[in-house]
Amino acid sequence: MIKENVFKIKERILSICSKTNRNPDTITIVAVSKDRTPEQIKEVIETGITDIGENKIQEAILKYNNLTPNTQYPIPIKWHMVGHLQTNKVKEAIRIFDLIHSVDSIHLAAEINKQAARINKIQDILIQVNTSSKGIKFGLKPDETIEVIKEIAKLKNLNIKGLMTIASIVDDPEKTRPYFRMLRELRDEIGKFGIWKLGFGILSMGMTDDFEVAIEEDANMLRLGRAIFSRQ
Ligand SMILES: *Cc1c(COP(=O)(O)O)cnc(C)c1O
Repeated sequence: MIKENVFKIKERILSICSKTNRNPDTITIVAVSKDRTPEQIKEVIETGITDIGENKIQEAILKYNNLTPNTQYPIPIKWHMVGHLQTNKVKEAIRIFDLIHSVDSIHLAAEINKQAARINKIQDILIQVNTSSKGIKFGLKPDETIEVIKEIAKLKNLNIKGLMTIASIVDDPEKTRPYFRMLRELRDEIGKFGIWKLGFGILSMGMTDDFEVAIEEDANMLRLGRAIFSRQ
């Protein structure tokens, strides 16, 4: 089932990309595997998706220990923290995660910076922005984002790679477009300050119900759970 789901998702991505003149190779799928098993993650990895997202630290550590190359599993996985991160969990988080999507305060960024410095790591992060507010608890307000990012950019053991947002749940995916568009515009605005090291910023946006709209608004990192793991 997972293989068929991934095949269908890739077809949908190709079709949107040809409609919008985008290169599908620039879009990373993160398989959000909260509540799924290591066996299910292995099935995903066999389809070629090696970016795995989790939202709880303890659950992530169990899976990480099960699937890291120096333990039992030979294929390198990139681990993504997509859920809210509490400061008292930072120390454990930076040990396993390649990219933390959910940095939404200077306080949290400072703690990640401090713990990363202790283990000599430059931690890749995204800044979470609350573009829709309705029903979404976490993330910076759009109008404070630029000022906060300028502060976080001073921290030496962090590498800010882009922005993340979660759209409110709506009946029609088209209604998410303004949120995604807002994130893209913020990303472009922040680019003028030279913060994105590669000359572009990651836009982590789009989930099972709205990823096609997100791609149309320039998403280059999709976080997909049910589309991959559930019976469609
Ligand atoms: C669960 C989750 C996803 C995946 O959601 P689906 O709607 O199942 O695709 C993406 N992002 C975050 C932050 C999540 O918690």
